Amino acid sequence: MNKKQIERSVLPLVKNPITYQGNEVGAVHKTVEAGTIRYAFAFPDTYAVGMSHLGLRILYGLMNEIADVYCERVFAPWIDMEEQMRDRRIPLFALETWDPIAEFDFVGFTLQYEMSYTNVLNMLDLAGIPLKSADRGPEDPIIMAGGPCACNPEPLADFIDVFVIGEAEEAIVEIMDVYRNNRGDRTQAIAAMAAIQGVYVPALCEAAYNADGTFEALRWKDSGEAVHIKKRFVADLEKVYFPQQTIVPYHETIHDRITEEIFRGCGRGCRFCQAGMIYRPVREKTRGCIAGDIAALKASTGYDEVSLSSLSTGDYSQIEGLTQDLVKAYADERFGISLPSLRIDSLSIDILKNISAVRKSGITLAPEAGTQRMRDIINKGVTEEDLIGTVTAAFTGGWGHVKLYFMMGLPGEETEDVLGIAALAQKVLDAYYAIPKEERNKSIKVVVSTACFVPKPHTPFQWVAQDRVDNFAQKQQLLKGTLTNRKIQYNWHDATTSYYEAVFARGDRRLGKVLLRAHQLGARFDGWQDCFDQERWDQAFADSGIDGDFYANRVRPLDEDFPWDFVDMGVSKDFLRAEYQKSQEEALTVDCRKGCSNCGIMDFSKGWRCHGNNAL
Ligand code: SF4
Repeated sequence: MNKKQIERSVLPLVKNPITYQGNEVGAVHKTVEAGTIRYAFAFPDTYAVGMSHLGLRILYGLMNEIADVYCERVFAPWIDMEEQMRDRRIPLFALETWDPIAEFDFVGFTLQYEMSYTNVLNMLDLAGIPLKSADRGPEDPIIMAGGPCACNPEPLADFIDVFVIGEAEEAIVEIMDVYRNNRGDRTQAIAAMAAIQGVYVPALCEAAYNADGTFEALRWKDSGEAVHIKKRFVADLEKVYFPQQTIVPYHETIHDRITEEIFRGCGRGCRFCQAGMIYRPVREKTRGCIAGDIAALKASTGYDEVSLSSLSTGDYSQIEGLTQDLVKAYADERFGISLPSLRIDSLSIDILKNISAVRKSGITLAPEAGTQRMRDIINKGVTEEDLIGTVTAAFTGGWGHVKLYFMMGLPGEETEDVLGIAALAQKVLDAYYAIPKEERNKSIKVVVSTACFVPKPHTPFQWVAQDRVDNFAQKQQLLKGTLTNRKIQYNWHDATTSYYEAVFARGDRRLGKVLLRAHQLGARFDGWQDCFDQERWDQAFADSGIDGDFYANRVRPLDEDFPWDFVDMGVSKDFLRAEYQKSQEEALTVDCRKGCSNCGIMDFSKGWRCHGNNAL
């Protein structure tokens, strides 16, 4: 079927047809010539999710700046579209040209979430590309993957030809150079890419396991030496590409606004947080650079809102000055500024007051745990006084809707820590009623959300067991029964998908069998509650003879070697181990911008200096 036929006879039958059409304002259209390197940026989720992803926008723009590279986009088609495509034998196509992605030189997946792994397989299958790298031939595209989950690439080792570990802006350009020089010999091109820092080619390596099933080592097949892959990171964010114009979707996406990245990395060192460990060191853009990016993006897209994005936006060293700059620059226009990740301190509220003269939507805060003991275990560095001071400032400033995020199942959690969540929510409510009526917002609503803790690789909690699914359920019921005040709403996340997330986050390449079987049984969109089917997953594990609990629920000895140890994210295993031990003593570690804790990143990034952002 050609494009016209699909538009006429397929798209009217599916939901959100516009998300398969491409051709948005800002989409790149190039002429495909004989020498064009064709790259499909594959997002293994829907268009609405994928188009909100900043990494897609950066790499799409960056690759299309290279004259002989044409980067297009492809998303996972929703179930109704997939049915149509399979019935009518329409192969998965890219949005810009509608050409089948099987004809491209590269298909590159971004791995944001472990539960999207079956979508990776499903997209390859829909494209008609062999699922396993061992089954691909000279005419097949090179299948790449990167993103945060690639810090433990092993569960996808059977399916991916080339992983990029860490930040891809510079590595992707080097990969294109290597490909250009080895065009026509797929095997040689992939082997040559393995010499690039940050590139991992699983087919060149083999894994060995101990008799008890634990991981022993990953070695190069040719030399037998241990594999060691160092991540890539961009030393200076202002020296790499950042889009000055971007695609404006016709369809609603999760974040319909400009996203301006103001810094990368986070120095706080929360012990559960993978992003906080793997994206070190902290690197800020200057105020001038940020203002310039926003002005350009505003002019080229027409958006009326910017989100100042980072892992912890309130920690930007000049956040007050930056927001003042922006308020001043756009004083005469209705141009919104949003801060997606607030610090729990009253300064954040002062900044919010500054930027929210008109709109006063709710504020979101993440104390993460209900008791001080638990917050010390996770190194959150936030006290109850901080939280109450912050919400009091918010209530007197006119806010009346507070969302509080917590995690359940953190290491060392006791019943009193679960009940502590309810007690803290009540104290937030009490803080509202303590303010005289005439000085506070007319209404109040406190929303408590709990997520289920998933121990992640490259964090101080990589050794701990995940809580059992039935324990999570009991704790959720306990909290639900305790939060009886009508002004407090409680939302929780079902633990079942968190269990599978935990399995694949700390898995090894033996799990490839399970993923393949789950795919054969019809698994896709597993992160979507409506699509997730536990029986299917139980069967996939049973058919593969693999016990998921071995990966999710086992306390790992301190000297165990892990399948992801060969990936060097810059933070040393010794530091992570010491942090784990400190957590058991409920001892704190300071923010790395207040004092260096020798996590290893400064040795890793020799020659790099944090310019001026060491001081908070
Ligand atoms: S503040 Fe804590 S949770 Fe947030 S990004 Fe930093 S380390 Fe992670």
